Amino acid sequence: KLYNMVQDLKGNIRVYCRIRPSFNCESKNIIDFIGGDGSLVILDPAKPQKDGRKVFQFNQVFGPAATQDEVFKDTQPLIRSVMDGYNVCIFAYGQTGSGKTHTMSGPSGGLTSDMGINYLALNDLFQMSKRRKDIIHYDIHVQMVEIYNEQVRDLLVQDSCTVKYPFILVIYLTLNIYLIGKKNWPRSFCVSLTIHKLEIRSCTGDNGLSIPDATMHSVNSTTDVLNLMKYGEVNRVVSTTAMNNRSSRSHSVLTVHVHGKDTTGGTFHSCLHLVDLAGSERVDKSEVTGDRLKEAQYINKSLSCLGDVITALAQKNSHIPYRNSKLTLLLQGSLGGHAKTLMLAHVSPEEDSFSETVSTLKFAQRVS
Ligand code: ADP
Ligand code: MG
Repeated sequence: KLYNMVQDLKGNIRVYCRIRPSFNCESKNIIDFIGGDGSLVILDPAKPQKDGRKVFQFNQVFGPAATQDEVFKDTQPLIRSVMDGYNVCIFAYGQTGSGKTHTMSGPSGGLTSDMGINYLALNDLFQMSKRRKDIIHYDIHVQMVEIYNEQVRDLLVQDSCTVKYPFILVIYLTLNIYLIGKKNWPRSFCVSLTIHKLEIRSCTGDNGLSIPDATMHSVNSTTDVLNLMKYGEVNRVVSTTAMNNRSSRSHSVLTVHVHGKDTTGGTFHSCLHLVDLAGSERVDKSEVTGDRLKEAQYINKSLSCLGDVITALAQKNSHIPYRNSKLTLLLQGSLGGHAKTLMLAHVSPEEDSFSETVSTLKFAQRVS
């Protein structure tokens, strides 16, 4: 309750920053100071004197030693409000390798002690649903899509023959890797087999769903969730081998739909979007061409649209530019209004990431 009151006073947009541990002990660490009040000071390795200090302020900063559980604890009240009918949106933003997927999904491959927010959130919602079962009946469903080059693809679609016959998937993957090795083979042909393009509708549509054609899966237990996550991972692997590390070049969106019905027959529908964004790093235009350049331009455009939308909301502008990208269109119902938004800005502590770290922190500070 207290959290919600504080939240209401501060507006509905919060920004947390997470710094992952350093993996290179030879590299200088650019983190100078982490304050308990959400302040963060970083040091420019080229200007280690006083003028190299840059100060940022967020709602909360998690240092390299922070555990998955600590990050989840501070996110839990927000996540829980979806059970009271609020729409909620949580993003992981940052350059590739800064820990976005670690925070949202955790390490890949089934149940570990390091599960991410996606799993912990659903687990928590199931427990709340049990505790409240005498007052409210909840139905929980999930959808999971990927946005790549402004195209939306269902990651949980199960109509493909690869589910029933896993060997077809193996043959398909091998063939893809082989064909892509031969440079002159048209890439788009290889990939097109697995792309299911979906339409996004504005949230005010018939049933309030922004992607009505993406498959909807009922989930009741963490086992259901783990199975779906595994399935989504396989579906992503298909495209990752077909395209150069595509998973960091696309946004993945896990949407949790909550339908509640109370004892008087009153009903509500709310949703929680858990978003692992494409890497925010700038690519050097002089070095990339063709598909890679197009990819980079789509990512730049959609991330800056997201920034524009959140900034416009924070400034309480009358026009919010949702329609400028697929991502913001998809999340429209969960950004603004009474919806609650949390951006988790991720940074790497090594000195060679300095300029990307500054650009991530500036982006995050702009929206907070
Ligand atoms: P991104 O999704 O932003 O590209 P990843 O989540 O894949 O980054 O992280 C890159 C690597 O760093 C992975 O091997 C991941 O396991 C590891 N990693 C990231 N954050 C942490 C953390 N807080 N603690 C331990 N390992 C981490
Ligand atoms: Mg990732």
